[in-house]
Amino acid sequence: MTNYAKLFDYQPEIVSALTKSFRKKRLVHAYLFEGQKGARKMDAAVYLSSLLLCQSDNPPCGVCPNCQKVNNLSHGNIYIIEPENEIIKKDQIEALLHELSSTSLFDGSRIYIIKEAHLMNTAASNALLKFLEEPHPQHYLILLSTQPHLLLDTIKSRVQTLHFNPISKKKMTKNLRDKGIAKDIAYCLAHITSSEEEADELIKSGEIIDIVALAKDIQKAKNNKQDSYLVFLKKGRFLFGEAISVMHHQMLFDVLMLLVREKIKAVHGDEDLFFVDCLKNIDKEKETPEGLIRQLEVMNKYQERIKYHVNMELLYASMFLEF
Ligand SMILES: [Zn+2]
Repeated sequence: MTNYAKLFDYQPEIVSALTKSFRKKRLVHAYLFEGQKGARKMDAAVYLSSLLLCQSDNPPCGVCPNCQKVNNLSHGNIYIIEPENEIIKKDQIEALLHELSSTSLFDGSRIYIIKEAHLMNTAASNALLKFLEEPHPQHYLILLSTQPHLLLDTIKSRVQTLHFNPISKKKMTKNLRDKGIAKDIAYCLAHITSSEEEADELIKSGEIIDIVALAKDIQKAKNNKQDSYLVFLKKGRFLFGEAISVMHHQMLFDVLMLLVREKIKAVHGDEDLFFVDCLKNIDKEKETPEGLIRQLEVMNKYQERIKYHVNMELLYASMFLEF
């Protein structure tokens, strides 16, 4: 499988725009690929590199030696710059410019990819402008960015911007389910992160599974008119363990809120639900549409407070009083 298989799935418009430009010989020498984390920007850079370096008559073939090297990011004509400690410094860009001025060991196009390009400091950005001012016919620069507004205007005006649409949550839920992940967990992951790789990581580390199970137990307690706070104290003990960070508490709130949104759908008779097993016996007298909207407000309010590193045990205690 090529590295850009997911690009075809999530960003077909980008594939078609790049392929068309390539076939009509209308590629420009500097691109900005901008979009959220996980939007397959790097895949698009690999795809464009394959178009440019493929040895077959119908590029990218995905199997020729060049395509394979591009796919492994081991082709000598691909140069990648990444931030170091959240910054891209001038010497990194100067190393790139030096590379450009030297003769390549391999024939054909040379592609320079700068990840998280908005993390270039001013000196680095100014050094890069030199490249943009004197384009070489076989050199291609691809800037990737989740925050393009932080790039210098002088850079933005010299590159062609391709906007990557946000990842479809529906598609991501489906892809995760195809990997064998349970319906409710896939649904939560697709809403918690925009990156399929990050979703895989969260599954591997396991907490998301405990968090979704806890949220469901809290809901079941509500359905059975039990004290949901007591259930939280008993089953949520793992949330106070050493490996738990603010992120995990945020995730529990995210999942609880998704659950409430599903309850709103259930109350309105929508049957296309993801948390099927715990939404069967909703206490419809207590969980009215107005009450559910209030639950969302309460959770929003307390989720905001997590940021300020408050005592989490106290935070949950007061939240459950209002929840
Ligand atoms: Zn090829």
